[in-house]
Amino acid sequence: MSSITLDHHADRSKMQVSEEVAIEINGMNKWYGAFHVLRDINLTVNQGERIVIAGPSGSGKSTLIRCINRLEEHQEGQIIVDGTELTSDLKNVDKVRSEVGMVFQHFNLFPHLTILENCTLAPIWVRKTPKKEAEERAMHFLEKVKIPEQAHKYPGMLSGGQQQRVAIARSLCMMPRIMLFDEPTSALDPEMIKEVLETMVSLAEEGMTMLCVTHEMGFAKEVANRVIFMDAGQIVEQNEPEEFFNNPQSERTKLFLSQIL
Ligand code: ADP
Ligand code: MG
Repeated sequence: MSSITLDHHADRSKMQVSEEVAIEINGMNKWYGAFHVLRDINLTVNQGERIVIAGPSGSGKSTLIRCINRLEEHQEGQIIVDGTELTSDLKNVDKVRSEVGMVFQHFNLFPHLTILENCTLAPIWVRKTPKKEAEERAMHFLEKVKIPEQAHKYPGMLSGGQQQRVAIARSLCMMPRIMLFDEPTSALDPEMIKEVLETMVSLAEEGMTMLCVTHEMGFAKEVANRVIFMDAGQIVEQNEPEEFFNNPQSERTKLFLSQIL
């Protein structure tokens, strides 16, 4: 497990948490067939929070964040995103997905489309945004992730770190209010990890609500306002980073930290 040191200190004074609830999960349970993968999850996330989810492999981290935009269905309890409850009602699912962006370990860019086309495809075809406006917005976000000069290249011509920054820009083009990250740097070399983390820091500084599954504990210390530790499908412990790292409460958290730090 790596711990990349970021060059710049994140400006926490810009990261304001509002009173407004972004995500509420009550008594949520999920099974894969007979396997009880998420157990009695209760979690409230306010607008502007930056949450890092940590825990051993197989503890249910990916499943939890995938439930938040219904890439996975839960069977019991409630998940409410920006006031909309996720149910089998597809209208609600569409509404939630329009507000939640997701970035995966593997960037999943369309290889036969240029960077610019990757970023404008969904805004044009799903949101019916006029092409010129979609392209202007895409260039704005490509500038934000610091690769506007790559706009007319194809994904295969870019480094892994550049492709992941395109994936982030592509998500931002849908103007999400919440961003979910599932190990966005786990497939990258150290030099590229840094550039992706720095992009995430700048998003946090702009007040984006973020849930990040990551092993980058340096990022957690620098950016998170809360670290959630999961094990065996449960939220075992959660705390602000300082307390979480210096004063872990449960034996399972202590063991995990002793293995990674
Ligand atoms: P993490 O992201 O913390 O590594 P996951 O959420 O991916 O954990 O997986 C939690 C558990 O659920 C693991 O035991 C995994 O094998 C199992 N699992 C994940 N996806 C599926 C699936 N689609 N069907 C059955 N079991 C799954
Ligand atoms: Mg995972």
